[in-house]
Amino acid sequence: MTPGAPSADPLTLGRRVRHLRTQRGLTLDQLAADTGVSASQLSLVENGHREPRLGLLSALAQALGVPTASLLDPEPPTRRAALEIALERAQGSPAYARLGLPAVRPSRTLPTEALEALVGLHGELRRRDEAASATPEEARRANTELRRTMRAVHNHLPELEELAEQQLRAAGHGAGPLTHRTVARMAAELGLTILYVDDLPHSTRTVTDLENGRIYLPPASTPGGHGLRSLALQAMAHQLLKHSAPVDYADFLRQRMEINYYAAACLVPRTPALELLRAAKAAKDLAVEDFRDAFGITHETAAWRLTNLATRDLDIPLHFLRVTEDGALTKGYEDDGVGLPADAAGAVEGQHVCRRWAARAVFAQRDRTTEFHQYTDTPGGTFWCSAQTGRNASGSRFSITVGVPYVHAKWFRGRDTAVRARSTCPDDGCCKRPPGELADRWAGRSWPSATMHAHVLAPLPTGSFPGVDDAEVYAFLERHAR
Ligand SMILES: [Zn+2]
Repeated sequence: MTPGAPSADPLTLGRRVRHLRTQRGLTLDQLAADTGVSASQLSLVENGHREPRLGLLSALAQALGVPTASLLDPEPPTRRAALEIALERAQGSPAYARLGLPAVRPSRTLPTEALEALVGLHGELRRRDEAASATPEEARRANTELRRTMRAVHNHLPELEELAEQQLRAAGHGAGPLTHRTVARMAAELGLTILYVDDLPHSTRTVTDLENGRIYLPPASTPGGHGLRSLALQAMAHQLLKHSAPVDYADFLRQRMEINYYAAACLVPRTPALELLRAAKAAKDLAVEDFRDAFGITHETAAWRLTNLATRDLDIPLHFLRVTEDGALTKGYEDDGVGLPADAAGAVEGQHVCRRWAARAVFAQRDRTTEFHQYTDTPGGTFWCSAQTGRNASGSRFSITVGVPYVHAKWFRGRDTAVRARSTCPDDGCCKRPPGELADRWAGRSWPSATMHAHVLAPLPTGSFPGVDDAEVYAFLERHAR
């Protein structure tokens, strides 16, 4: 904006000037002469390509016989003007530029009907665009909604439990951990072959070639890990559950939850899982690590899988937390009233859990071979928690915690721990505020520069599947289909 220029929207201002000029029967040349500018300069103003300086603005107001302030009215002067402005805005957007279509000039010869239709189409296009590439806020809302839905059913989906056991039976799976061989047989039952490639598109985890019946997976990263079996099972789940390309972010999240659920239910089938868990409960010797070791899965998958079964089948309400070393919650579930930290919209991801909780206290533990156990008094009651730390592929640490209300601690190994903590969070005085003497010492005498979390701002790229780069994926499929 030019210094001293009024701050109004130039498109609306221009339309208002033109509206008043034609209403008064003045030509562009006449009004230009009255205000001491050239007709071409005035045309630039009317088309919103130039903001008039204050001097010109008052001259225009005077020549048109209106107060200067009324020229700055943010409301378009007529319905037609509003449509013209909307069309220009839409055609100027990056989303429209990507389509490579010509811009239609909203001249007077363009019928209002055509203008209405174009603006309506642009609006719908933008809506679909936004639905596919959800803003972080929409994504968080959808995620919160899904977590609430799942809490209502105690994170248990009977039809997926049944489907997993049925598919395992069909592939002849017996007892013990699910092998790669059995997973390949399950794929074959669906007419699919599993192939490992080292050039999978960056925006994908797996790609399924429906034409040639292939599931492309990345090369083995963690030998003996369940990652690849899980990815293959998730790819199959999309087909088994007859998913179609997600229509919006909520749909994408629901599908992702379902395929994860199915994969976990295959790796840890309900029947043998419940045999093991019920026996351990009867012996008052429940432990996430035993559950993990019996099925050859990660601690995180074992802990999460427990949330599918514990409340519904073992009558044990519980909570699950995945927390990074800085205390941020990356995944959380509870049906035991533990009170996860949440923002105003109810989203828990990215919120910091109390420093006193086991999920954070565990990072200070020297012995990382066994789980860390702690009782924590909170405003919502006393909870017993079991936490374990791990490292992700990039080397940063996280903790996995499973906790239960005090009365249910008796079923678990580690209930005899002497570690006790007290948390009054979300009260700021608990752990969020620095101690008074430190605040006195450092407030105003330090300047920390914050880490920027790129994913907080980046919207998902838009493809036929949210977040997926079509060009990359199709080039990949071509390369391999030959
Ligand atoms: Zn706290």
